[in-house]
Amino acid sequence: MAERHELPTVVFVAGASRSGSTVLDIALGSNPDFVSVGELRRLQGYARRDHELSGARSTTSELRCTCGAWVDECPLWLSVEREAGLSFRETPFKSSGTVACRRAVQAAYLIAGPRAAYAAAVSTRCGKRELAVARNCFRVYDAIGAVTGSRYIVDSSKSIYHYALLRSHDARRVRLILLARDGRAVTHSMIRGDRATHWPAGTPPATQAARDWARQTRSMRLLSRRTPSSEKVTLRYEELCSDPAREFERIARMLGAPSLEPQLAPDVRHNIGGSPSRLERHTEIRLDERWRDDLSESDLAMFERAAGATNRRMGYC
Ligand SMILES: [Zn+2]
Repeated sequence: MAERHELPTVVFVAGASRSGSTVLDIALGSNPDFVSVGELRRLQGYARRDHELSGARSTTSELRCTCGAWVDECPLWLSVEREAGLSFRETPFKSSGTVACRRAVQAAYLIAGPRAAYAAAVSTRCGKRELAVARNCFRVYDAIGAVTGSRYIVDSSKSIYHYALLRSHDARRVRLILLARDGRAVTHSMIRGDRATHWPAGTPPATQAARDWARQTRSMRLLSRRTPSSEKVTLRYEELCSDPAREFERIARMLGAPSLEPQLAPDVRHNIGGSPSRLERHTEIRLDERWRDDLSESDLAMFERAAGATNRRMGYC
C-alpha cells in the first residue's frame, strides 16, 4: 500500500442525473494521482445492499462495486473501512435531514457562506447530524488517500446540497466540477429503458423528468455561486464529448494539476453509484444525442412548459 502524509483534495462532480458524470468520473480516475470512487454518499446503502438507503432509482441492479464484488467483500473498500476505523454499514454518508433542516443549512450557506452554514447547523440537533455526514465522508476520503496514495479523490455524488455540506465542514479541501447537459437529453435518458417505469402515475414522465432536471439545475446554479471561481469549473457534457482534451485541460488548470488525460484506462475500478453504464467497459467518451430523433413533438412541448426557460438560461436553445 502506498503511503502519503498530505491529505487528499476532493474533486466533487455536481450535476443532474444522466449528465455524463459516470464517464467523467471514470476518465478522471484513470489519471495518475487520481482515484475515483463513484458516488460516495451511497456507501452505507451499498455496504448494506439496501436499495432504498443507497438511493438507487433502479431496484433491479445489484449494488456491487464495479470490480464485481460486494462492497463488504471488495479488497479496496475493506482496506478503506479498516483505515477509516468505522463501519460502513453503521455510518451515514448521506443527508437524512428534514426539509426544514436542509433549507436552514442551505439558506445560511447561500446568504453567508460555508462558515455560516456550519454555525447554523451546529446549533440544532438535526443540523449536527447533517455535519456528521460530511465528517464521515472526510474520514473515508482520508482513508482512501492513505490506502491508494492518491492526491485527488473524485466523488461524483452529484448533489449540490451534499457538496455544500462538505464545504461547510472543510471548504479548503473541496473543488467543484459543475456538469451541465441539455435538459432535453437528460429527460430523454430518464424516461426510456428501465427508468420508464419508475415514475409515479398521473403526470406524464417527460414532465416529471423535466421538472426534476430543472429543479436540480436551478439549485446547482444557486449554491455553486458561493464557490470562488478559482475553485470550480463548469463543463458542458456536449463540449466534454466533442473536445475532451481541452475540457480536461480546464480541469487541470483549476486543480493546479500538471496535466490530465481524458483516457479511459481498462484498469479494475472500485466505483459505487452512478449510472448502470459504470459496469460496462468504456473505451471512449462518446456524445449521445439520441434525444433529437427519439423525443416526440408532445414530449418536447411538455419539456418546454416544464423546463424550457431553465434550459435556455443554461445556454441550450
Ligand atoms: Zn471493488
